[in-house]
Amino acid sequence: MNKNEMMIEFGSDAKNEGLARIVVASFLTRTNPTLNEVEDVKTAVSEAVTNSIIHGYENGDGKIIIKAYIEDRTIHIEIIDYGCGIPDIDKAMEPMYTSKGDENRSGMGFSFMEAFMDELVVESKVGEGTTIKMKKKIGAEQETY
Ligand code: ATP
Ligand code: MG
Repeated sequence: MNKNEMMIEFGSDAKNEGLARIVVASFLTRTNPTLNEVEDVKTAVSEAVTNSIIHGYENGDGKIIIKAYIEDRTIHIEIIDYGCGIPDIDKAMEPMYTSKGDENRSGMGFSFMEAFMDELVVESKVGEGTTIKMKKKIGAEQETY
């Protein structure tokens, strides 16, 4: 493992979503982020982890892994589950698409991840699991004025 990397592994209990947010946020601290940047990253992580818990594992038992590294003030994050996988990724990523409309989900998770991060890549295989890769450059806000 390179010295600028981290990895955590935790069970798919919904209570662990807060743990995931805090771990990534504290890892991000070394880039000297603004509060907005921290909030953006926490929201994106939280959406991805919640998806693994409720969709990937259908609220059952399972393992979620978060890997992250920081390079040139860009944070790269991967959220990995070994759940049911996504049959149609393009459709799943459409704003307001949800396979759980009956549970008052709004289908906006992927849209939020896309809006709050600079790049989002979804890899998934039915029966094998899902990996969400995203990255965000920290300090981009300050450079705009
Ligand atoms: P919201 O996030 O607004 O509560 P949602 O979770 O349904 O609603 P998205 O987060 O955009 O919306 O996800 C869209 C769909 O993609 C989900 O309804 C689900 O079918 C599928 N999906 C997302 N993540 C996973 C995953 N890790 N494993 C399996 N299916 C997933
Ligand atoms: Mg979601």
